[in-house]
Amino acid sequence: MEDAKKVFHFFEEISRIPRESGDEKAICEYLVAFAKERGLEVYSDEHWNVIIKKPSTIPNCACSPVIIQGHTDMVYVREESCKRAYEDGIGLIYKDGWITADGTTLGADDGLAVAFALALLDGKEILHPDIEAVFTSSEEVGLVGAGYLDYSRLKGKYMLNIDTEDEGTFYTSCAGAFRNEIKIPITRETVEGLYPLKVKIGGLVGGHSGMEINEGRGNAITLMARVLSMLGSDAHLSSLEAIGKTNAICNNATAELFVEEDKLQSVQARIREMESDFIRELGTRDTLTIGLTVGEKQSASCYDEQSRKRAVSALTLLPCGVMAMSFDVPNLVETSSNPGLINKYENELSVISTSRSSVGSRKKEMRERYASVAALSGGESVCSADYPQWEYKAKSPLREVAMSAYEELYHEKAKTCAIHAGLECGYFDEKLDGVDIISYGPIMQDVHTPRERTNIASIERTWTLTQSILEKLAK
Ligand SMILES: [Zn+2]
Repeated sequence: MEDAKKVFHFFEEISRIPRESGDEKAICEYLVAFAKERGLEVYSDEHWNVIIKKPSTIPNCACSPVIIQGHTDMVYVREESCKRAYEDGIGLIYKDGWITADGTTLGADDGLAVAFALALLDGKEILHPDIEAVFTSSEEVGLVGAGYLDYSRLKGKYMLNIDTEDEGTFYTSCAGAFRNEIKIPITRETVEGLYPLKVKIGGLVGGHSGMEINEGRGNAITLMARVLSMLGSDAHLSSLEAIGKTNAICNNATAELFVEEDKLQSVQARIREMESDFIRELGTRDTLTIGLTVGEKQSASCYDEQSRKRAVSALTLLPCGVMAMSFDVPNLVETSSNPGLINKYENELSVISTSRSSVGSRKKEMRERYASVAALSGGESVCSADYPQWEYKAKSPLREVAMSAYEELYHEKAKTCAIHAGLECGYFDEKLDGVDIISYGPIMQDVHTPRERTNIASIERTWTLTQSILEKLAK
């Protein structure tokens, strides 16, 4: 075994290389040079994925190769006050047993996986089977690199994915997902002499559309659908917009309505009533405000009655939130849907959702649901960015090895867990027949924010654990 000195050394090295998602050329070149310097077999592709192979350190090792995998890209976020330029890379700060970054994200997610793999490839004193180190690109923007990887280059039957953040927990399954856009055509008419009323739903917490979908928070798109449905033909709809990300629970939505003078008071009062309903429903789980702004009387271009009905029906029917819970894994969301944003288009209602499920056939069902919503509303449904789930395997020899290595090291049992979010493991599970995977990693907190930090002792323990798993497999 080796101590973690090299892990920290390589983490420092790669932290000097800017590697925001989509900008992985430099880190790819670094990895290729690393392999060549050491005479290791290396392959890279035009998407900046890299595979480096290292033979077993045990003569005639009977174990099949082990894949060690992580992504090279990081979510790059900097504080406004940060003086360091992107090109300068990440400034590491060691303090009180933690590593943080100087005003930016740290990129421990998933730079530590890269550092682990490099320390392993560079190691002299580690007993391990043949290693296939796989470094993927653009994970953070939809598992892009993993989607393009040439899996025929891999022979490994075991895989360690180092991309989860709870030391003491082995992940055993993840959700697949796809994006959906429903497009409902809009025909407009001009309405004369009405008052503009802007309705702005905001103040909601939002959150991750997978990990936090079971928190019961409000989705602004669904709440807006209820406001519009309640108002019916008492308000002409001129535009709809919800700014957001497909992978975040939508926390804002704006509708521009036009209302006749004699209905203006009652329309506003009814919206206020609904606002109190929403606040009561959400309870302590979320906060909400509805802003109402009235303008000067004018003529305006609005959805015609048919279009308004179709658009509001589509928004009302659009699946939102937890669709099903898992019956195998307690408290795991199995299937969900999250409308994430509405594009403000002149002649079309365009709503983008993300659906996730750990069961492939339930994803198909969700596709049918979106298609039905679109069909009933005279529009179309387009699915894209599909990535596969990693289904739970009842029998996993690798998991048993990892659990026993953990227990020997920590003198307690590790937990196992499944997540309702995407991991690259889904692709490897789909493309590599019979591959046995676990996912784990050292403690990281507040990833994807400038507060991101990772724990030094946890890195050291996880490094020892990794070597111990490899040693057990090799013997
Ligand atoms: Zn990651």
